[in-house]
Amino acid sequence: MTQLTIDPYAPPEAVVEGRGSEADQEIWREGKFVVCARDAHLPDRCAVCNEPAQGYGFLKKMTWHSPWFFLLILANLLIYLIVALCVQKTAKIRIGLCPRHRARRERGLWVGFLGLAVSIVCLASPALVVYPDGGLARDVVPMVGLVGLVLCPILGVLMTQLVRPRRVDQDHAWLRVGKPFASSFPERD
Ligand SMILES: [Zn+2]
Repeated sequence: MTQLTIDPYAPPEAVVEGRGSEADQEIWREGKFVVCARDAHLPDRCAVCNEPAQGYGFLKKMTWHSPWFFLLILANLLIYLIVALCVQKTAKIRIGLCPRHRARRERGLWVGFLGLAVSIVCLASPALVVYPDGGLARDVVPMVGLVGLVLCPILGVLMTQLVRPRRVDQDHAWLRVGKPFASSFPERD
């Protein structure tokens, strides 16, 4: 685990939630990935575009295991789930977002959850309402619900997954972030 210390001489803008300065937290870049401690608080900048996050951040829990374990799904889903629970590594990282990307993430949450709820209602509508005989709505509305049931979760995930884990080990997490944000950290091999 990375030792975190408070540097009293660090510039105030670099201090994130009392977790020490950016340098103290030992965050660096490996290619396009940002590497930090598994419980790091990223600096108060947008993890996508590197604009000021103005104090806004959220804790994101990320789990990761080697992609090879996905092969177990072919054998047995239950075995995969049990093994994945045992081998996966977890990171809990505070991520900052600028107002623009914050709004995009919130829209994604709405699309995901509200879209899914509306889709389920549309799909179940023949059992809930009486459609007029011979009308198209009876066929079209459930079909729209079926399409939404598949599309809304995918769209929601795409809009909200602004930071994704590339790898997590015992101490560190490798994160896929926006290029401008990644470029702001020193490169290390
Ligand atoms: Zn941004």
